Amino acid sequence: MSSAIKNIHARQILDSRGNPTLEVDIELHSGILGTASVPSGASKGKFEAMELRDNNPEFDGKGVKNAVDNVNTVIANELINKDASNQYIIDKSLLELDGTKSKSNLGANAMLGVSMACARACANYYKLPLYKYMGGINAVVLPVPMMNIINGGAHANNNLDFQEFMIAPTGAESFSEAIQMGAEVFYTLKKILNKKGLSTSVGDEGGFAPDLNTNSDAIELIIDAIQKSDYTTDQIKICLDVASSEFYGNGKYFVKGNYYTCAEFAEILDNLVSEYPIISIEDGMAQEDWEGWRILTQKLGKKCQLVGDDLFVTNIDRIKSGIEDSVANSVLIKLNQIGTLSETINAINYAKNYSYTTIISHRSGETEDTFIADLAVAVNAGQIKTGSLSRTERIAKYNRLLKIEQELGPAAKYFGISAFNPKIL
Ligand code: PGA
Ligand code: ZN
Repeated sequence: MSSAIKNIHARQILDSRGNPTLEVDIELHSGILGTASVPSGASKGKFEAMELRDNNPEFDGKGVKNAVDNVNTVIANELINKDASNQYIIDKSLLELDGTKSKSNLGANAMLGVSMACARACANYYKLPLYKYMGGINAVVLPVPMMNIINGGAHANNNLDFQEFMIAPTGAESFSEAIQMGAEVFYTLKKILNKKGLSTSVGDEGGFAPDLNTNSDAIELIIDAIQKSDYTTDQIKICLDVASSEFYGNGKYFVKGNYYTCAEFAEILDNLVSEYPIISIEDGMAQEDWEGWRILTQKLGKKCQLVGDDLFVTNIDRIKSGIEDSVANSVLIKLNQIGTLSETINAINYAKNYSYTTIISHRSGETEDTFIADLAVAVNAGQIKTGSLSRTERIAKYNRLLKIEQELGPAAKYFGISAFNPKIL
C-alpha cells in the first residue's frame, strides 16, 4: 500500500526559545513526505505527559537526542510498513510500544512528532490541505483568536503574576477582520507604553512585558488601547490566563506579597469579571485545587468561560473528573500535553459532548510548524490561543489561518461571541 510508511527520520532542531526539540520526517512508500515539529511549555502542568530530555551537559541538559534516537530506532522499527492513514492504529502502536501512562519510556515529544508527521504525510498523499484531511467537509469554522498582548508570569521577567492578558475580537465579522483588529490594538498599546516610558520588549509569546503595579493595570492599559484604536469593549473582549498553579502552594495563592485562600482568590477573580469586559479565565485555580475549582465554577461559571489547562492537560481522564465534578466549562487543548493526535481528538470530542468549549493552543516554546491552525479548523474548535501579533512562530499560525479562510471562501464561518461558554454571554 502506498500510504504505508517507508521511512521515519527525526532530527534535533531548536524552538523559539533556542531550546532543542524534535522534527520528524515520515516518508511513505509512494515517495510522499510529511514533516512535523514539537512544541514545549514553560509553565508546564504537573500532570502532563513526559517530555524526554537528555539531562546531560549539552544544551544545559535540554537536548532531545534520546527522543530522536527513540524515533529513529524503536519507533521506526515498529511502524515501518504500517499504513500511515490509520492514525488511531499508528497512535495505539505508539502507546503500546511506550507502555507507560506518563509516556516516559519513549517520551511524549518523540511520540507526538511521529503522530503529527503521519497526519501530514497522509494529507499530502491524499492531496488535501491538513485541515481537510483531518476534518473533511465539516471543517469550516475559523477560530476566534485569543491574542496574548501582555505577557507575565513564567513567560516574562517582569513583575506581573498573571501569565497572559489576551484580547478576543468577538465582534469581528470574520477571522481576517479579527486579526486586523488585534494588530491595530497591538500597535496602539505599543504607543501607549512608549508614552508612559514603559518597556515595549516582548515576552515568550510576543506580547509586551512591562513592569506594572497590579494585574488590573495591565487590563486597563489594554482597554485604553482598544478604545484609542476606535474599537469598543463590546467588539473586543479580554481573556486571562492566570496560570495560578505557578503561584499556588500549601493551599494558598500568593499574589503581590499576600496569601489568599481559594475562596478569597475566587472573590478577586469575580471582582475582575464584574469590573472589566473579561469573558474567559484560564487556570483561575491551581491544578490540584479541585475545591477551589468548585468554588470558582459556582461563583463564575454562569457568567465567564472557565478554562482548564494545567487542570485537564488534554487528558480525557482528568476532563471526565472535571465534568463529573461540574468544574470549569472549557478545555484548553495542547497536543504535547497528551502526546498523540488520536488522544487529542478524543479529548476534544469528549469535551464537546458535554458542551465544554475547546481552545486549541500553542506552547510558549514553539516552532514554525502551523499544525495547530489546521487542527483548530479541522475540529471546529471555535477558539485558538497562539500568541501575540509579533514573533514569526506565533504569526505563522495566524497566517496559516488567513490562508485557510481564503481557501474556504464563503464557506468559512466565524462565530464570535457564540464560540464561548457560557452560551448566555
Ligand atoms: P506554557 O504556557 O506553554 O509555557 O505551558 C502556556 C499556557 O499556560 O497556556
Ligand atoms: Zn495556560
